[in-house]
Amino acid sequence: MLSHDLIDVIGRTPLVRLRLGADRGVEVYAKCEALGPGGPGARAARLAVAAARPADHVPVVVSGAWAPAVALVAGRLGHPVHVVDDGVARPALTALGCLPTAEPPTLTPDAVSQDELAAELAEDLDWIDVVVGGDDDLRATAGALRAHLPGVRVVGVRGSLPRNGSPFDELYRLNEHEAFEATRNLALDEKLFAGPVSGAVYRVLGELAAKAAPGTRIVGVFPDRGEDCVETVYSDEYWARHRIAELPLSTMSAARPDEALRVVFVESSDVIVPAALGLTPTHVRTCADPIALRRTVLRACGADKIVGVLSTDHAHQAVAARLAADLGVPGPSAGFGVEQVGRDRQILPAESNGTVASRAVLSRLFRLTTGTELVQAELRALAGAGDPSFDGVAGVHFLRAQGILDEVTGVDLALAVPGVEEVAVTTPTGDRIGDHVGYVIAWAATRAELLDRLDQAAAHLHVRLRPARVPYPLVSREAMVNRSVVTVGGVEIGPDTFTLIAGPCAVETVEQTFTSARMALAAGATLLRGGAFKPRSSPYGFRGLREDGLRILADVRAETGLPIVTEVVDSPDVDLVARYADMLQIGTRNMQNFGLLEAAADSGRPILLKRGMSATVQEWLLAAEYIAVRGNNNIVLCERGIRTFEPSTRNTLDLSAVLVAQGLSHLPVIVDPSHASGLRELVLPLARAAVAVGADGVMLDVHPEPEKALCDAKQALDEAALDGLAEAMRDWATLAGRLSPDVLRQVAPAGQAR
Ligand code: PEP
Ligand code: MN
Repeated sequence: MLSHDLIDVIGRTPLVRLRLGADRGVEVYAKCEALGPGGPGARAARLAVAAARPADHVPVVVSGAWAPAVALVAGRLGHPVHVVDDGVARPALTALGCLPTAEPPTLTPDAVSQDELAAELAEDLDWIDVVVGGDDDLRATAGALRAHLPGVRVVGVRGSLPRNGSPFDELYRLNEHEAFEATRNLALDEKLFAGPVSGAVYRVLGELAAKAAPGTRIVGVFPDRGEDCVETVYSDEYWARHRIAELPLSTMSAARPDEALRVVFVESSDVIVPAALGLTPTHVRTCADPIALRRTVLRACGADKIVGVLSTDHAHQAVAARLAADLGVPGPSAGFGVEQVGRDRQILPAESNGTVASRAVLSRLFRLTTGTELVQAELRALAGAGDPSFDGVAGVHFLRAQGILDEVTGVDLALAVPGVEEVAVTTPTGDRIGDHVGYVIAWAATRAELLDRLDQAAAHLHVRLRPARVPYPLVSREAMVNRSVVTVGGVEIGPDTFTLIAGPCAVETVEQTFTSARMALAAGATLLRGGAFKPRSSPYGFRGLREDGLRILADVRAETGLPIVTEVVDSPDVDLVARYADMLQIGTRNMQNFGLLEAAADSGRPILLKRGMSATVQEWLLAAEYIAVRGNNNIVLCERGIRTFEPSTRNTLDLSAVLVAQGLSHLPVIVDPSHASGLRELVLPLARAAVAVGADGVMLDVHPEPEKALCDAKQALDEAALDGLAEAMRDWATLAGRLSPDVLRQVAPAGQAR
């Protein structure tokens, strides 16, 4: 067969008679959709690309398993293809010339009607009694099949229910064991090396063939390849790890979709959800908008048919619970799935040392104590079929550590402790440890015995860390190659923007703060600064309005929309200040007040960490490390001038420190030219210098009547200086490539009413 374009060869996939059913005179065929060029999804990719008609040079963005098919089609048509790297088929994609991207996909594998597939079947076979296929693959094609093959029965297998009524005459549900076993049988019996959807279809073909009258003609659509499943379906190790063989082999059932009571599964990708107890699982993809999600579910199911909402994915338990509450049906919290180990020991008799166990770990514990699948038990609970009975107590011990993992030793010894079922190391060697490197799972008859076994196992395990190359690993570039973005009340500070923070040195009166905020806005500021707690060198200085000042700031925020940056001077005040502030400022005098750093970190608020006036860059980064080590990575560094021998300015602005800190750390670095110079006349030139050197923002003092300011009067910009400030921000930040002219158009032009 000669073709002049690879795209023309897509489709025309082999249609092969199987041995299955032959002994009874039943004809069973496999339409091998995965065997053409581009592999699984090529036909759909060609249709989707044709329908989307991407413009020249605008990249097509795809992700997931069908990305190679799209890469083939779109690439042949001359469109650049960008791929969201989710690890699927990466070498193939690189070979096809795809570029990585973080943009959201522009092309998603929505069901596309494959009229062509239906036409090919009709051409090859003339008439067909039944077509069986994965429900996702066949959903949109059912109409075309009926048009080309009058009287055909269309049977869906596995996965989700259709969104708008059902196109299927029957739907079959299989669990993983059933699907995987059938996939292996397909390879053994028919020598077709395929994936689990094909396996599930094969199993249903067997079921139908066994009951069909001689002469019946049945076609199965086989959409996936064995090569893509060597580490799952065909891996004994995978079977053992997931205890596939323990799932029952008799759950497969057919349902007439429109009559079924439904349990909704909220998932992010297709999973095989079990059929049980007369309930039909309906699969919806999770989405961020709860109202849209509810609408989708109601459209797919009808309110009176839904009996509950579950999710097999740890990340979606909360979404599933919210959806259930919105629909007024039991959710995961009514079953067993959402109970976090260690939180509710009544329902799930399990123990954990703190860290919230993932859904996968929970399922293992549940299986250990009940011998049944968690999701099955949840379904039984929804169907009112009774609670599982528990035998003993299972628990998990997380191996907590911080740093870069070198090695975990003692795994064999830990596994030899009686009752220990699993020792998992989940962090790869050389990776930074998130919260824990892995865990031990054990079972015992009593809780005391369980805790003892977990302790014994843990005592054998030693986590060796790689020595960090810098003394401040968390804030260093070692932790993160790319520079980080810190978001304060919705305002981003980081490498791709330039942020102006302005306001009075101290909050003095309502009027003064409001006016200063309006001045800040007019200059293009997106955050408001202002101290309610002031650290002063002299005990006789104005030390701030304290909570009254915070209230004023909150009122001004409500009025202007500007999030607030304000200083906290003393650890006991952190809670109070954090209640009002969007960002906590740690002043130069407190940079090494380690208790205050920890308390501020624990507030969870982003932190503006000013450089100590006599601190080296290393000491500054170590102070930031004090915050990061508490789990708060939202830190912005602020260079505000250092103490030198030169008395003509208040401090000496150390602009090179901005570059040094940005080179050593991933944190944003801004500059405070007001405190650096102490002189109004120098503030704008130094702000321009900060932009030019590549700082991520500036923070400066403004005051409606500087001569009356209670604090730092000589450095505040007044009304007259504002035009210059707005101009400096608009022009210099654009010039330095920090802000696009579009962004700057939003900044009020100089001279606008303020
Ligand atoms: C301030 O920003 O008001 C302030 C007191 O700054 P610093 O800690 O840099 O002196
Ligand atoms: Mn000040």
